[in-house]
Amino acid sequence: MRRFLLLLSILITLLGVGTPVDAAPISSINQSSIFSESDEQTTGNNSTQAVCAGARKLSIPTSTPVPIEGYRWPTRRLKIYMETQDKPLQAAFRGAVKAWNKTGAVHISWCRDKGRADIITQDSSLSSTAPSTNVGYVSSQLGSTSTEYNPDTHALIRARSTLDAGSLDYASLNFRTEVAEHELGHALGLAHAPEYMHSVMIPRNVKTGITKEDRATVRLLYGAH
Ligand SMILES: [Zn+2]
Repeated sequence: MRRFLLLLSILITLLGVGTPVDAAPISSINQSSIFSESDEQTTGNNSTQAVCAGARKLSIPTSTPVPIEGYRWPTRRLKIYMETQDKPLQAAFRGAVKAWNKTGAVHISWCRDKGRADIITQDSSLSSTAPSTNVGYVSSQLGSTSTEYNPDTHALIRARSTLDAGSLDYASLNFRTEVAEHELGHALGLAHAPEYMHSVMIPRNVKTGITKEDRATVRLLYGAH
């Protein structure tokens, strides 16, 4: 148990998360935001040994073109729930889901049952009313994603991607969709890419949609060769 706690604290340090709100021993929360300095450069996570003997550990590739967080969904078929009522943001999330599905790595489908959804898409006004799932959320960001995962098995449990209506509703649909692609990238287990890379996962500076490198990374992560 002590070893588990140690691993958990290592993971939290590596991922640069402040205080995990969910103190449940099986899960951990990572908060990534498009402007945040704190969740970058989590490439070298080598704390990958299984601690709990009974848990089935998911395989995570050791080397990918774009950095990954070190966790993924146990399945390639995922359900997503549209919580935001904001029409421009809905269009952005829909476009982003199509774009990630086009990589062939995952198949994300929309569902009407929030309780059964793996990923929830929301806007910043909604997320501010749910403080329990958003650590250190700052409303001036374009978007943010919080992920809940099991550090023993490296399995994602739930992800929430948020876009800020105030700053994105009047941006172009193209830009809005790229920001949504960035946030859903976090929801799939991608980390921030360094500035010199060609990736949708570069923080603060979304200049591109999903690139060949992003596509190769999710395909490696989800075993779609
Ligand atoms: Zn980000």
